[in-house]
Amino acid sequence: MSDRLATIRRLTAEHGADAALLTFLPDIRWVVGFSGSNALLVVTPDAAHFLTDGRYTTQAAAEVTGAEIHVPGYNLVEHIEREGLFGDSATVLVQGDHVTVAQWNDWQERFPEMAFEPVSGLLREAIASKTEDEIEAIRRAQAVTEEVFDTILPFIKPGLSEQDLAAEIVYQHLKRGASAMAFEPIVGSGPNGALPHARASSRTFRSGDLIVIDMGCVLDGYASDMTRTVVVGEPDDEARKAYGVVLEAQERAIEAIHAGASGKAVDGVAREIIKDAGLGDYFSHGLGHGVGLQVHEWPRLSYHIDDMLPVNAAITVEPGVYLPERFGIRIEDIVVAREDGPEVLTRTTKSLLVL
Ligand code: ZN
Ligand code: ZN
Repeated sequence: MSDRLATIRRLTAEHGADAALLTFLPDIRWVVGFSGSNALLVVTPDAAHFLTDGRYTTQAAAEVTGAEIHVPGYNLVEHIEREGLFGDSATVLVQGDHVTVAQWNDWQERFPEMAFEPVSGLLREAIASKTEDEIEAIRRAQAVTEEVFDTILPFIKPGLSEQDLAAEIVYQHLKRGASAMAFEPIVGSGPNGALPHARASSRTFRSGDLIVIDMGCVLDGYASDMTRTVVVGEPDDEARKAYGVVLEAQERAIEAIHAGASGKAVDGVAREIIKDAGLGDYFSHGLGHGVGLQVHEWPRLSYHIDDMLPVNAAITVEPGVYLPERFGIRIEDIVVAREDGPEVLTRTTKSLLVL
């Protein structure tokens, strides 16, 4: 963990600050290992102070490494003030994208002599570059989701509702040791599939429906994320053809992934194929996102921002087409950007499953 503190110290110095105050829990977890719901981390050139509340005394002692643990039993920022944990810092770097106005005002009042330097995306590049242990953790979470996928297939029949399937997806994940769902499962059947982030509804499956199933869990802190589109009964020709286009776009885009690749270029590979098939108007979102301690992390595969993929970044590749009031199709895998190309973590088949 100490190399992660070194990363924070380097970034702090690069931004001209003397100390850093971390407020974003997934980042604090990445640095010191704490998985609870309330914490601050103060990093100075020669010390690291972790602060949490009395609910987490035992948990902090078990999890936190590399920082001195403080459980003050009163306001954490007041404790920083009373104990002088910023040392003789004149400028404190803070996470501009994870600070509320109330926090900001509180700091200004408590430390009137000090300057606070807000920086957004402070650790995003460091966090995106996964260690082999982290990649294994994502693989384990993903393996649970894939087992669940195999388990739910026999349930998918005309008459079952989206909500029933979503409930089964949650149950089967928790039963296999997932600590939580990474997000509410998406089950979009028939026309509901055309809403990329449809919530499961009471709609029941009918013969000929395409069903978009997007699900992921959290296991040992790391997220999984997978989408498959299946069909109940025979799909019509147009649906089958569109499925082939999305699959082709997904596979070609995966081939374009490697450390240092441009996220915009990878997105463009998939977008071009979908456009050439005349479906360009129906691919309405970016191609993918980073996955790790959070299910949506930097970097993005996007047509409107260009992130460079750091080595060993774990990212989703999830093209889709959504024909309003008719059907949706999305296929999503997790891929690691290795030096020499893509490593696909997802194992589940991408052949169109006709159930
Ligand atoms: Zn997903
Ligand atoms: Zn995703």
